[in-house]
Amino acid sequence: MQYFFTDEQKTIKDLARRVAEERILPVRAELDENEEFPWPVIQDIAASDLFRIFVPEEYEGLGGGCLELCLVMEEFSRVCSGVAISFAASALGSYTLMDFGTDHLKKKYLPDIAAGKKLAAFALTESTAGSDASAIRTTAEKVADGYLINGTKQFITNGGEAELYTIIALTDKSKGARGASAFLVEKGTPGFTFGKKEKKLGIRASSTCELVFQNCLIPEENIIGKPGMGFIMAMKLLDKSRPGVGAQALGIAQGALEAAYDYTRQRVQFGQPLVTQPVVQNMLADMAIQVEAARSLVYAAARNADSGSKDYTESSAMAKVFASDAAMRVTTDAVQLCGGAGYMKDYPVEKMMRDAKITQIYEGSNQVLRNAIAAELRKRKAKTE
Ligand SMILES: Cc1cc2nc3c(=O)[nH]c(=O)nc-3n(C[C@H](O)[C@H](O)[C@H](O)COP(=O)(O)OP(=O)(O)OC[C@H]3O[C@@H](n4cnc5c(N)ncnc54)[C@H](O)[C@@H]3O)c2cc1C
Repeated sequence: MQYFFTDEQKTIKDLARRVAEERILPVRAELDENEEFPWPVIQDIAASDLFRIFVPEEYEGLGGGCLELCLVMEEFSRVCSGVAISFAASALGSYTLMDFGTDHLKKKYLPDIAAGKKLAAFALTESTAGSDASAIRTTAEKVADGYLINGTKQFITNGGEAELYTIIALTDKSKGARGASAFLVEKGTPGFTFGKKEKKLGIRASSTCELVFQNCLIPEENIIGKPGMGFIMAMKLLDKSRPGVGAQALGIAQGALEAAYDYTRQRVQFGQPLVTQPVVQNMLADMAIQVEAARSLVYAAARNADSGSKDYTESSAMAKVFASDAAMRVTTDAVQLCGGAGYMKDYPVEKMMRDAKITQIYEGSNQVLRNAIAAELRKRKAKTE
């Protein structure tokens, strides 16, 4: 399928593939086994300038959009989506600053994020607020010399490793989600520590950690946008980042398809390579169709988000839901096609199956996003009646 990329987009995709094959592939099994944060690989990615693609040019970035980020996510995830999400979480942690922050804050923080010298993270989820993100309890009380943050954030990607955290906290508890605001908090700020580091089924190279705020005083200038706009900014951020989760799922599925194809070509049973069996061919064909359909929807959703259109909530949700469901099916079939070997850690497909699962859960679970898509259908129908 032809996707009509510009020369620059082709260069980014090729570069990301090279970094993935040369730097990530040799260490992926080890990173997965040891649940090690991939700092050496992050440094290689920084040296390739790929962190610059999601940062505007005036802050030492390359000014890429959602599509460029998806191309990198796809290529990294084809090899190791734990590394891929550690990279993309830095974009997630910086987007609110890029879109709503002051020039002063952008100049202060973005050049180091673009250079990959520092990682960022985004923290919305709490123990009481998962799918219902509006139930957050972390507070940011206005005091004479800034804001005093209290509360605990849960399941935060890049937690403990990032230097910069975008957090959503309540500045006015009485207003619920409409009383939420966004803040930047630097690692090392007194009163900000890290709690439980999670042990996970998949994406084990990435860090998932609790953030604990106990009377953590941050300067007034570290508020992003206006007080009370935090929840709206968070929802806009997730609309923009969901095609990236779709691209993560797409990359995992692509990797699994290739691994299953190679295995069935080499594996001989009943005197013939498995790939000559019509049932195996049908399974491979179905997997290829799922992957290509996911690719088309992810690229279309990313282009929609980059188009300047204000309305991309639905397309972003659709791309994320479709690609993650496809990744779960394709990776499960890849394990099936590799038989007993596919179940073993010597082959990459069991890791891909474990990694695929999270793409159905985070950044809005697929059930919750289906609810949102159905609500859009109802709204559109109501308009025509
Ligand atoms: C590895 C990992 C990394 C993460 N990284 C981050 C991060 O960087 N920053 C951050 O802020 N958060 C992060 N999260 C949090 C993630 O976004 C949430 O886990 C997710 O939104 C689901 O919330 P929950 O886990 O509380 O599940 P719950 O909300 O408790 O949901 C449990 C189940 O019920 C279903 N459900 C809930 N409500 C409904 C409904 N109304 N209709 C139908 N079904 C429903 C859900 O789909 C799910 O299947 C991360 C999570 C994980 C596991």
